[in-house]
This record gives sequence, structure tokens and C-alpha cells, in this order.
Amino acid sequence: MIKVGLNGYGVIGKRVAYAVSRQDDMQLVGIAKQTPDYKAKLAAKRGFDVYSSGDPDAFKDGEVKTSGTLEALLGKVDIIVDATPEGIGAQNKQLYEKAGIKAIWQGGEKHSISDLSFNAYANYDSAIGARYARVVSCNTTGLLRTLYPLQKEFGINSVSAVLVRRGADPSETKKGPIDALEVDKHIPSHHGADVNTVMPGLKIDTVAIKASTTLMHLHSVSVELAKNASKEEILELYGRHKRIALVSLKDGVSSTAQVMDIARELGRGDGDMYEIAVWKELTVNGNRLQYFQAVHQESDVVPENIDAIRAMCGADKSSQSSIEKTDKNLDIGAYK
Ligand code: NAD
Repeated sequence: MIKVGLNGYGVIGKRVAYAVSRQDDMQLVGIAKQTPDYKAKLAAKRGFDVYSSGDPDAFKDGEVKTSGTLEALLGKVDIIVDATPEGIGAQNKQLYEKAGIKAIWQGGEKHSISDLSFNAYANYDSAIGARYARVVSCNTTGLLRTLYPLQKEFGINSVSAVLVRRGADPSETKKGPIDALEVDKHIPSHHGADVNTVMPGLKIDTVAIKASTTLMHLHSVSVELAKNASKEEILELYGRHKRIALVSLKDGVSSTAQVMDIARELGRGDGDMYEIAVWKELTVNGNRLQYFQAVHQESDVVPENIDAIRAMCGADKSSQSSIEKTDKNLDIGAYK
């Protein structure tokens, strides 16, 4: 059993903790929280041991009992998943170094934190036995999920993508309400360069727009393949990848609202959509492919964290078998 700890129990952290608890080759030793808020209470209710990562006195009079400090947790685990806010993860690195354990960070941290940015489809093997890795952001994960299979099967000359990003997460009230579509001031946006941390050499340009929605991101992706393809071939390729869910206008799925309705109906985790939803109504003209995809920003990186844990701890040397295990345990591929 791989002993896993979780530091930063927010949008991503609570989902990764839940996903770890669903694996039969991993044990969630505990989660670290700064404050005894409702998330800490729910974590305890789920049976997770809670450790304090801030002032231990904060938990003194609360209903949530702690099992010790973050340092104590670090002393009990093989690997820590850091899902603290952007920039905090980098500050925590020295703690993990001192404890002599492996660590995974999230996409808010820079590539240089580990010099290994991870996506299970694209570079599982390079993480085998690694001490440190970073699971790339939700948008980058979404792009890699659908681009890597294309690269492998057909080759890619270039990619151009427009990312319509959610303005805030559903529980993130401090950012809302907003009533605008906002152009990302970085043109091109950083997402293309982030894809290159996993797929170096891929010619990709991205631009981003922030929209007043909390549900999902929506990408419009245009790909010049290295050879001609047919629509049937692309659909067959994506159909073979469980982490891609094919949805259709014909079935009444015309927006991110219906995609998330499907996710809730499937009843997994927090009503999550681990898969990237690709609309079947994609167009192929010779070697030019155009498609829409929806990305559930709160959960698409969760299975990637699980595979990164397995690869780094050397528990599974085969990407295919780790991915299959994760998919089975999280019911990924339930909507095809
Ligand atoms: P969040 O704010 O929802 O959760 C972070 C948690 O860490 C909170 O519970 C907070 O209380 C806790 N925390 C704050 N400071 C801490 C500290 N010093 N030590 C320990 N815990 C601390 O953040 P999030 O959205 O889950 O993002 C976490 C990481 O995941 C970031 O790198 C982010 O860029 C990345 N990410 C976020 C999303 C998303 O859409 N939310 C998607 C993919 C990746």
C-alpha cells in the first residue's frame, strides 16, 4: 500500500483525497487543514484523519479532532499531494525535502518546481520513480487529453485553440459576481506553453477569454494533422479513450449545463466529470480538424494525480494498467 498524505483540502485537494481513498493499492493517511471549517468537518465525517497545517490552537475548541501537525503527517507518508493555493506549494517544498518524501504539486505552481509536468496519457513513463512532479492545470490537462492521442495516431503540424474559461469555481464567492467576457491580457495565453512542458515541440497557440460561468471551461480547438483523417477515424480514436466522453447535439447536449447534468446523474465523487467532453459534431476537412471540448476544472486533474502517485512510487510500471485501474475505481468512461 502506498501511504499518501494530502496538504490543502480545497476544490482539488478534497477530490484527490476522495479518489485516493477509492484505490485498493493506496492508503490515505490523512489530510492537512489550516482551519476547522465545514470542509474539515466533512473530511472527518468521511473518516479521514485531519492534521493541522496552521496554528494547532485553531482546532482546540472545535468539533474536529486532529491527529497532529502537518509535520507529523509528513513523517507517516511515502508521498504528499500538495493542493494548496498557487505559490504556497512552492513554499512547502522545503518541508517535503526535510521529511525525505515524494511530492506532487498542482498546475498553479511553475514547471520549475519539479521540472516534471505530468499527464497520464502523454508522459506516464517519465514519472516512474520520480521524487517530484507537477500535475498540469485543468485547461492544460484538457488540451493534452485530446491532443496526445491525435499526435500519436496521425501526427500534428500545428494547433490553435480558443479557451473560454470559467470565471470562478462554484464555491468561490470572493471572485463573483461578474458580468462580462474578459480577454486574457496575455496573447497568446500561457496554456500553449504549458502544454509544451509535457509535449515539447508541439506547435500550439492558445488565447483565452474569461466568462461569467462557474460550471466548466469550453475550448474550440483547431488542429492541422500531419496526414488526412476522416471524422469516423477521429471518433473511433476518441471512443477508445475512456478519459474522453463523446457527447452530441443530437442527444440534446448543447452546453456545459447538460454535460454537468450528465455528470451529476452518473453520481460519482462530488458529481464530477473526470472525462473531457468532446462533441461528436466535429469537422474534418482533409487534415484540418475542428472540435469543441468541455473541461470540468474541478475534477479533470484528479485521475492524473492518482496515476502520478502510482508512477512515482513505482507501484505500476505500465501506464496502461495504472490508467485502467484508476478509471475502474473512479468509474471513468461511464458515459460513452
Ligand atoms: P482552493 O483555494 O480551493 O484550496 C486550497 C486549500 O488550501 C484551501 O482549503 C485552503 O484553506 C488551503 N490552504 C491555504 N493556505 C494554505 C497553507 N499555507 N497550507 C495549507 N493549506 C493551505 O484551491 P484549488 O482551487 O483547489 O487550487 C489548488 C491548486 O490546484 C492550485 O495550484 C490551482 O492552480 C490548482 N488547480 C485548480 C483548479 C481549479 O479549477 N480550482 C483546477 C486545476 C488545478
